[in-house]
Amino acid sequence: MTELNLASGASYFKSPEPAINAAIAALHAGKTYYGPAEGTADLRNALANRYQAQGIAIKPEQVLVTPGTKQALFNLFSVLLRDGDEVVVPVPAWFGFNELLKYSKGKLVTIETTLAQNYRLDPEAIRKSLTEKSRILLLTNPANPTGRIYSKPELEAIVTLLHDFPNLYLISDEIYDLDTYGKPFTSALACPGPQERIIVVNGFSKNFAMSGWRIGFVVGPEAIIKQSTDFQSSTFSGVSMFIQEAALATLQTQEATIATMLEVLQENRQLMQKGLEAIPHVSFYVPDGAYYFFPDLSHYIGTRTPTGATINSTETLCNYLQQQHNLVVVNGDNFGGVGHVRMSFAVEQPVLEQAMVRLREALLQLKPQL
Ligand code: PMP
Repeated sequence: MTELNLASGASYFKSPEPAINAAIAALHAGKTYYGPAEGTADLRNALANRYQAQGIAIKPEQVLVTPGTKQALFNLFSVLLRDGDEVVVPVPAWFGFNELLKYSKGKLVTIETTLAQNYRLDPEAIRKSLTEKSRILLLTNPANPTGRIYSKPELEAIVTLLHDFPNLYLISDEIYDLDTYGKPFTSALACPGPQERIIVVNGFSKNFAMSGWRIGFVVGPEAIIKQSTDFQSSTFSGVSMFIQEAALATLQTQEATIATMLEVLQENRQLMQKGLEAIPHVSFYVPDGAYYFFPDLSHYIGTRTPTGATINSTETLCNYLQQQHNLVVVNGDNFGGVGHVRMSFAVEQPVLEQAMVRLREALLQLKPQL
């Protein structure tokens, strides 16, 4: 049985041809020296334009080019967090936040959102979780793993909270902002509020299938961009010049790239939805964005396999799917969604179709415990 893998955070698409051509041309042109730590003027301009085109007034000085979105977050955690500070995150959320915080000063505080409420953000629940130690409120929008896009009013209610917590920054991780399926996306930068404490991180890994290129960016108040640039200059320096030229070429041709990818992702999303609907006792949110489903499989926990082994946790369920059916999904416990699994639909269609058949068969073989 061949392995069917739905676990990767990277899509199967090839990086855009203009990116590849621009990188090769830049290498041949000898652009292999240190670039400016904050990013090239052209790329910062193009990134600022990306927001200006949405009616959001962003200057190039408000943009820092980083070696990936992870590093963008790490830069911000390094300059903002002090001993004892709290980073408040609605869950389910990407496990990477927790990993990064192991190497930063902050402590993770989670706020539960539920499938039953369509992962709605409740401003009052968030307010109750905030203290004078809360330094960062961290959102992903569109969210990984739930695929939830927060509506403009929902976001505005969150941004309003900043007025009552003067030490608090909002960081919105918008790395999937172009992977959307009809529901309008609003950047946190478009919400009225204390702009000196609203920061967006984003990157090229997901929107443009460029995870291996290591390029992302921060958009925010100039003071924070300056501090993060100093941190980056001392630790990493600038992103390689030829990678920045590739990123610029990607932005200049993005419409065609995105249209092609979205067409496939739309179809794949439907295929996965149909596949999940064909399995009894599975509930899920149909993602508005990103490229994952995060179904609740908890009905199948507390069962036994045909060989009599016990499935008593999300981990044993994932192990059973992998070891007995060669189907790899990600354990939702890692995202704060116990009983759920994360499945990517940014995979080849035959893999996706077979995976859904296999998932159904595997789950239907599980029997109640004696
Ligand atoms: N943020 C989120 C929400 C992600 O899902 C990921 C990748 N899985 C990252 C950041 C990391 O992105 P990058 O490759 O740009 O470091």
